[in-house]
Amino acid sequence: MTYDTPAASPLDPAALDAADPLADLRQRFVGAESDLVYFDGNSLGRPLRATADRAREFVESEWGGRLIRGWEERWYDQPLVLGDEIGRVCLGAAPGQTFVGDSTTVLLYKLIRAAVDAAPAGRDEIVIDTDNFPTDRYLVEGIAAERGMTVRWLEVDPASGVSLSATQRAVGEKTALVVLSHVAYRSGHLAPAREISESVRDSGAMVLWDLCHSAGSVPMELDEWGVDLAVGCTYKYLNGGPGSPAFAYVAERHHGLRQPIQGWKGHADPFLMGPGYTPAQGVRRFISGTPPITAMLGLQDMVALIDEVGMEAVRAKSVQLTSYAVDLADELLSGLGVTLASPRDPEQRGGHVTLRHDRMRDVVARLWERDVIPDYRDPGGLRIGLSPLSTSFEEVRRGVEAIAEVLGSMA
Ligand SMILES: *Cc1c(COP(=O)(O)O)cnc(C)c1O
Repeated sequence: MTYDTPAASPLDPAALDAADPLADLRQRFVGAESDLVYFDGNSLGRPLRATADRAREFVESEWGGRLIRGWEERWYDQPLVLGDEIGRVCLGAAPGQTFVGDSTTVLLYKLIRAAVDAAPAGRDEIVIDTDNFPTDRYLVEGIAAERGMTVRWLEVDPASGVSLSATQRAVGEKTALVVLSHVAYRSGHLAPAREISESVRDSGAMVLWDLCHSAGSVPMELDEWGVDLAVGCTYKYLNGGPGSPAFAYVAERHHGLRQPIQGWKGHADPFLMGPGYTPAQGVRRFISGTPPITAMLGLQDMVALIDEVGMEAVRAKSVQLTSYAVDLADELLSGLGVTLASPRDPEQRGGHVTLRHDRMRDVVARLWERDVIPDYRDPGGLRIGLSPLSTSFEEVRRGVEAIAEVLGSMA
């Protein structure tokens, strides 16, 4: 990796921060001035300072002032308005296909179930990789049991991820749906989503991408790639706050799908309160109950900030940060027996890097005591999540040095 910097030493963090066009944006996040090293922005992003003002304003004026009138004035459409914003800024999705709704788990359930229910006779297999996120695997197992379907497991190396060729081997004329993560939660592997989506479509099946670790970190073009369905988190790189609701993308050609939790807020006319269920037109039919408006406040500020900067610039910084972490690990940690459990090629890597060592569980516990916050993922993985707009190169340097110190002291 080469860095766009005049520094004498390519690993000098001050020079990298000075050359970073996005460096000043860090000041917009709560906690930017503290010495804490935050390597978990891929699990729970830091709040923007603007979000504190937005929350107060919401309570005092909008909720407090408009009261129930707020539903008609703004809140009723907010899941779709915000969905369109996420679609435009982060997903490469034209309006009318994305909404903000329930938790990731519940939205995954709704869309997986909707897709397999619509599969033609004889297509009774769901393909998912063995290293997909637990909730995705558990849901697929449950839905397969409900529907009498078969789960076809795609074996992947946990230090890497799903490839086009492995997917092609698993997908065939019995496949109803393929469920994959765009960026693997463990290794950070970035799947070739365009190629896989095309190939799955050509085989007559549908594909659902879990975007939890790529939304707000890796640019995408869901419409252009011909993606069928997608679901992603907003509390990771979209900084929506703990438990902020997930978003889902349903390509327009699939708006006729029947979703399994048909509640009143997905009805064509909820306030008619009539006897039978008639689904709303468009993506609204995938909504079930009353949307969590207060929980949508934080992510609006982050989507606006990403819009200001552009996803390409976010990705450029993300690649520099992860490459820097890999270079530092080579320099400071490889002699201590640490290996890289993520792709070395930045083109095949999302926004985080995992480092492996048998003692990482203890190392992470000791790091937390000194306000260095990565997380631990079996087997022996210390995961460094580098939220592009809130992380400085200096922070990365101090964090990797702390790992070296802790591991060195345990030797
Ligand atoms: C974080 C994450 C989830 C989380 O699902 P929740 O319902 O929000 O708990 C799901 N899938 C992936 C790939 C994740 O990284």
